[in-house]
Amino acid sequence: MAEIRIKNVAKTFGAYQALHDINLTIADQEFMVLLGASGCGKTTLLRIVAGLATASTGEVWIGGRRVDHLPPKDRGIAMVFQNYAVFPHLTVFENIAFGLRMKKMPNDEVTRRVERTATLMHIEQLLKRYSGELSGGQRQRVAVARALAMEPDVILMDEPLSNLDALLRLEMRAELKGVLADSKTTAIYVTHDQVEAMSLADRISVMHQGKIVQAATPIEVYRSPAAEFVGSFIGNPPMNFIKATPAGDGKWRVAGEIIDGPRTDRPALQFAIRPEDIRPAEHGLTATAKVVEPLGAHLLVTCDVDGRPFRAVLDSDLTVRPGDTLTLAPQADRIRWFDPETTLALA
Ligand code: ATP
Repeated sequence: MAEIRIKNVAKTFGAYQALHDINLTIADQEFMVLLGASGCGKTTLLRIVAGLATASTGEVWIGGRRVDHLPPKDRGIAMVFQNYAVFPHLTVFENIAFGLRMKKMPNDEVTRRVERTATLMHIEQLLKRYSGELSGGQRQRVAVARALAMEPDVILMDEPLSNLDALLRLEMRAELKGVLADSKTTAIYVTHDQVEAMSLADRISVMHQGKIVQAATPIEVYRSPAAEFVGSFIGNPPMNFIKATPAGDGKWRVAGEIIDGPRTDRPALQFAIRPEDIRPAEHGLTATAKVVEPLGAHLLVTCDVDGRPFRAVLDSDLTVRPGDTLTLAPQADRIRWFDPETTLALA
């Protein structure tokens, strides 16, 4: 059992507060991704769990044990970082064996574990090579194999695929997901790549300015963003937002259209819809097409609605030209409403 509990963790660097009161529980064997823009505090939080940095306040628990006063080696974790330290003068075998030798593990056990993890990562044919003779992707696999060979309860990864080209990233992503599911390890994975996050995670913690804005499954984060930030950060292109004013009786005026919405006495709301959840229809928002991008599988149309940009992902069979007037209907069950004051979603 290696549940991870992060309780009330905050971190300041001098006067700068990098993390604000973080509370997060990662279940045993769960794959948790920390996702957010550069500087939001992902790496700092991971380093605190690893023991490479100390929290200013708060506690870290791993497997029911409080660990924030323990050095990294006593926390039952293994790490893979962006700049993975694979030693070029050692063979692949000795690189994978590195941590096991440090622990003075018997030779036959070292061999068993190295061979097992090398097979998992499809590098068993490379064991005798020097790591200096490997490609970036192969070196990356060695780094992951070395972490898995420790048979850790917890594996912590910080942008481990960022040095790879796009195709290799895609391949490694799928492999990593399979391997970690098989190895029953609890994982925390840091990335700023939303596609990587969506594809790997059991749950994603979306971070913004040192806070976790939402921790939920990939589909929840996509479909039901808890805050405007999540809607604008997740999804490519991001959600469309339009200011809505009350039209009485649970109805809202959105760019001249009357749309059913929540019953609340707030003076204004933010109407939000994903570009994928919009269809041309008889009734809907009046939009002027500005830029039409045929992307193969679909047509991305950037329009003007009420003087502001509004994007729609439409069927690629449609003919739309810049200057055309479109009537676009948002799919009713996909509309989200946010409070403009708090930027949080309404229930
Ligand atoms: P990236 O994706 O760019 O790595 P991140 O989300 O991992 O970003 P962190 O590295 O956790 O961000 O940094 C969070 C904030 O804390 C940043 O504003 C960073 O400048 C600041 N910070 C990090 N380490 C230190 C430090 N040692 N001293 C001062 N400020 C720091």
